[in-house]
Amino acid sequence: MDECIFCKIIKGEIPSFKVYEDEKVFAFEDINPIQEGHTLVIPKRHAGNLWEMTDGDLAAVQIAGKRIGLAIKKALDATGVACLQLNGRGANQVVMHYHLHLIPRLEGGPPLPVSNWELKAGDMARIKAVAERITSALG
Ligand SMILES: [Zn+2]
Repeated sequence: MDECIFCKIIKGEIPSFKVYEDEKVFAFEDINPIQEGHTLVIPKRHAGNLWEMTDGDLAAVQIAGKRIGLAIKKALDATGVACLQLNGRGANQVVMHYHLHLIPRLEGGPPLPVSNWELKAGDMARIKAVAERITSALG
């Protein structure tokens, strides 16, 4: 897509700190990192979100992310790596080109609220009803 910032990064029209590239995948450092080493893994073929991804591109991004995540862990001596992927404005997706965040967790690093929520027991009847709606939508 012409106006997509990530497509421009892939084409080299906007500079980036590239860490990995193959036939289907491009990965680079987030310039607004949650944590040093915060990396984005994206498909070279534009897709706005998870549901626009081809199965092949999705697999390629995940497989590259697995490999890059291990490299991040080794390079930064990370205690963990969060793999975060957001779809839609309501989920705080900012750039509408599918991207997988790889966020290293380091000793003394800032909190990652999305992975640290309070565990409160839900209403079992509502959980059951929602499960049925989702199952039904799966067809
Ligand atoms: Zn794009």
